Amino acid sequence: MKTEILTMLRETEGYVSGQELCNHFGVSRTAVWKAINQLKDAGYEIEAVPNKGYHLISAPDIMSAEELKSNRKTKWMGQEILYFDSIDSTNTKAKQLAEENYPSGTLVVADRQTAGRGRRGRNWESPQHTGIFMTLMVKPDMNPNNASMLTLVAALAVAKAITEVTQLPAQIKWPNDIVINGHKIVGILTEMSAQIDYINHVVIGIGINVHNESFPQELRETASSLLLESGKRFRRADIIEAFLEHFEKYYEVFLETQDLEALMNEYNRMLVNREKFVRVLDPKEPFEGKAMGITKKGELIVDTWESRKLVSSGEVSVRGIYGYV
Ligand code: ATP
Repeated sequence: MKTEILTMLRETEGYVSGQELCNHFGVSRTAVWKAINQLKDAGYEIEAVPNKGYHLISAPDIMSAEELKSNRKTKWMGQEILYFDSIDSTNTKAKQLAEENYPSGTLVVADRQTAGRGRRGRNWESPQHTGIFMTLMVKPDMNPNNASMLTLVAALAVAKAITEVTQLPAQIKWPNDIVINGHKIVGILTEMSAQIDYINHVVIGIGINVHNESFPQELRETASSLLLESGKRFRRADIIEAFLEHFEKYYEVFLETQDLEALMNEYNRMLVNREKFVRVLDPKEPFEGKAMGITKKGELIVDTWESRKLVSSGEVSVRGIYGYV
């Protein structure tokens, strides 16, 4: 009921009377009063005026299921939301939920991860009260060979969401990092469970540095947070909500053709590597060239002195020739 009360308070400009809430949910005054008090305990500032009712003044920076659900404006993305104060890894949890038949579009969110992972088994710094650690689980009806493009779809949605909420100049470092002023703010780890010709599920894990004031020594050069870049504290739930909306829209467009034809111009406009010299850290043979943009399959087009190369994500990392981007 807390979610529904919050939703009503959010949707009402003025006051919602206690009686309206009782009638709407078919519960007693005491039950409404208890739910309101629980919301206040969670940090919601709710004004109660005799003869008028309740009015939501402000919401705290929490990512509880109630908070996220009452904010949700999507059709189906994030239909199920599970929140954890602490978890080993949101990707691991989302995979379990997929196997327990949770629906496509289920979102797992945590305030802290004890075993957050990046690509190739690397770790993802996930301290409490600083970031968004979330995994979206989807069950797309498509060829498993096309699933890696979902990482780029997610990167585009995160970049758009951050730009919208913060007005900061978020850019994409191919294929899936989000950078602001050359610093890494977001990492994305996509994992899939599939048979030869169909996908069981895909989990898209996203770590966003929001309120970090500093980073461990080894990340100081490359990493940053929205707070460090702007001096402001943004509400994490607002970023999650904006992400869900953008991802839902892009995901549906992507599924129609199962490629990035309709999205690549938008992606290329946000690409930090575009027309920059890059070093492609291909485990087989590293090389340098000028990055030109992505193809509709999500490959990075790199022009070297000799030829034009198409780089697929997978095992490859890209660096600027003078640094991280
Ligand atoms: P790249 O392509 O830049 O090599 P990646 O996509 O392979 O990155 P990710 O999986 O996105 O790597 O992230 C893992 C790496 O990111 C770690 O090895 C570490 O260097 C760095 N990292 C870990 N935690 C954070 C964080 N909170 N913010 C920024 N960078 C981080």
